[in-house]
Amino acid sequence: MSLPHRSFWEDELYDQKYDLIVTGGGLTGLSAAYFFKKEYNDAKVLVVERGTFPIGASTRNAGFACIGSIGEIMADLEIESEEIVKQRIKDRYEGLLLLRETLGDDLIEYDNCGGFEIFTNSDEFIRLQDHVPMLNEWLEGLTGEKDVFRVWTYLGIPAFFNRVEGQLHPGKMIKLLLQKCIECGVEFRWNTKVNEIDTEENKILSDLGHSFKADRLIISVNAFTSELMPEYKIKPGRGYVFVTNELDYMNWKGTFHYEKGYVYFRNIGEDRMLIGGGRNVAHTEEETAEFGVNQNIKDYLITFAKEVLELPPNWQIEREWSGIMGFTDSKSYILKLIGDNCVIAAGLSGMGVALGMNLGKKATELV
Ligand SMILES: Cc1cc2nc3c(=O)[nH]c(=O)nc-3n(C[C@H](O)[C@H](O)[C@H](O)COP(=O)(O)OP(=O)(O)OC[C@H]3O[C@@H](n4cnc5c(N)ncnc54)[C@H](O)[C@@H]3O)c2cc1C
Repeated sequence: MSLPHRSFWEDELYDQKYDLIVTGGGLTGLSAAYFFKKEYNDAKVLVVERGTFPIGASTRNAGFACIGSIGEIMADLEIESEEIVKQRIKDRYEGLLLLRETLGDDLIEYDNCGGFEIFTNSDEFIRLQDHVPMLNEWLEGLTGEKDVFRVWTYLGIPAFFNRVEGQLHPGKMIKLLLQKCIECGVEFRWNTKVNEIDTEENKILSDLGHSFKADRLIISVNAFTSELMPEYKIKPGRGYVFVTNELDYMNWKGTFHYEKGYVYFRNIGEDRMLIGGGRNVAHTEEETAEFGVNQNIKDYLITFAKEVLELPPNWQIEREWSGIMGFTDSKSYILKLIGDNCVIAAGLSGMGVALGMNLGKKATELV
């Protein structure tokens, strides 16, 4: 659809100048808009989002509010410095506290149930077990929390337990954050895909030809960053999740990781399970920004549910979906000032529930 000639009156609507425009209305972008408006009450703040609701990862994730499992931390240490790995744990811990303080545990159904990491490979478990004292010392230094990790056995399966993690309801989290943005006067342009960003003029251009100007820009489109700014190498990674029917019995309560976090599962309420991940069996195929289901991943997770989780015989998949994550090469997000007034905040590499709100807030401090 091309735009008709603009009416005389429409200049009033179209040519407004904003103090801040945020492109991308997921957890990071909404948080940026919210904290900026809270700090500068009179500021005109606009969020531009391509979907009717956010359509990336923030409403399509598994709701794990996690700071890191032993398997994941030790795997990170093989490729990154101790300083970077420690900083990420601290960021996730602080980000989670900010999210809980800002939105409130009850309204986002945050359950401080802790996080388990289970192992079917006992050699791997024994190898990692040696690191528990060191990691507990780290965690105490980083967060002030004592004895975060414990050795556990869950239904006879060797496990580690992290007592400072939990689960939440991502739909309620975003709905509440949206309400807070609207209440404090943030404006929205939904169904508006940004096609171009002019960081010199501080201007964005939509696919329908609308342009919006601001004193400051924040770009928080995560997995879709390279579509707008190809120089920023954030790879899309599709994630798959399914939810079961109501089960006759439910043995697994809490959040669980398996295979260095590639496979994850949790209870939803008293009798449903969510199972997701499995990108380790189709890594390259899943480097896509297209939504969809990879049958190999689905089959792998079904086998896992039957053979490892031993779900009751009548279990079925009741709902399945995908979402798109954004991965940086280093696994650390990008928070960068471009020119004088534009900040890019993206590449949360699959950990955004704990990181997203604080990243949005930090973006407002930088811009
Ligand atoms: C299946 C799955 C499971 C996950 N599970 C967990 C989990 O349990 N725990 C955890 O911590 N993390 C999890 N994640 C990752 C987490 O959801 C993300 O890291 C986080 O939501 C990223 O938030 P964001 O706001 O940066 O990006 P997004 O939520 O992706 O938001 C980006 C927004 O930008 C919009 N956009 C894109 N391009 C344009 C454009 N050109 N113009 C306008 N708007 C645009 C999109 O529509 C989208 O709404 C999971 C992700 C997936 C996909």
